[in-house]
Amino acid sequence: MKSLTFHEVRWARTRLIVMGLLMGGCMLWSLIAINHHYGDVLGLGFIQQTALINENRVLQNQLQFLTHQLNGIQKQLNLLGDKGNEMRLHADLPKLDEDMRKAGTGGIESRIDFTSSISVNSLLNNLRSTAEQADHELHLQASSYEEIESAYEKNKVRFSHLPAIKPMDGFYNKNGFGMRFHPILHIVRPHEGIDIDNEVGTPIYAAAEGTIEFTGHQGGYGLTLEINHGFSLKTRYGHLSKILVHEGQRVKRGELVARCGNSGLSSAPHLHYEVRVNGVAQNPIDYFFDDVHASDFQN
Ligand SMILES: [Zn+2]
Repeated sequence: MKSLTFHEVRWARTRLIVMGLLMGGCMLWSLIAINHHYGDVLGLGFIQQTALINENRVLQNQLQFLTHQLNGIQKQLNLLGDKGNEMRLHADLPKLDEDMRKAGTGGIESRIDFTSSISVNSLLNNLRSTAEQADHELHLQASSYEEIESAYEKNKVRFSHLPAIKPMDGFYNKNGFGMRFHPILHIVRPHEGIDIDNEVGTPIYAAAEGTIEFTGHQGGYGLTLEINHGFSLKTRYGHLSKILVHEGQRVKRGELVARCGNSGLSSAPHLHYEVRVNGVAQNPIDYFFDDVHASDFQN
């Protein structure tokens, strides 16, 4: 019987170790594969970590996408805000200033530490401040539009009560208002309106919306009509031949209310027309436009 040499013994041991390592490796690989196949039943954590990394990547991409979308919305809101400011000017309202519009931005000091990586923290803070700014602008614009609407309605009412039309067709002296030599009395005295010349019977229209306040004879004015337009405004129509409305009646701008005459202290048929604010006579030609006619307001 041949005894084993030292070299043979050492080779056998090395082979045994290599075999053991290979088998161990195979078993470990199988174990990991089986664990992976059954959803980490051994709780080794490799899969969760991979899943979390993937999830994190998806969330970061979505955060970037949302921030981009929100920035777009914010830009649109700013454009609407600029348009709103134009509308405010038309409605005689002050513009919303830039400071007020930017008040929603918290700035650096309001940044929150989400105890995440710097890049994610910055993404979250950007998203948050953009959302806050958009929300602020949205609320500001909503209340501004309400304000514009209400101002516009008020202005519309006020404009409808302004004596903006010449109440009767005919010639008038543009310098007729003020001190003048009275053609009948032959003295210099204030003329508190303008005289529009035309034939007896020419239609006279209400200069603005209002309520008939007086109808009847009134000294030198002859047969007279007075309309109260509210907003401290009144108009007076003198030397009439006929009145077609009654006291307390509501009239619209352009509505037929009387006919031209020659009553009272009048040398020829004409309409004496006055506009008064808080009882003080105004020059009527400052109120009406020559190219705006009663017929423009009649349906
Ligand atoms: Zn007159």
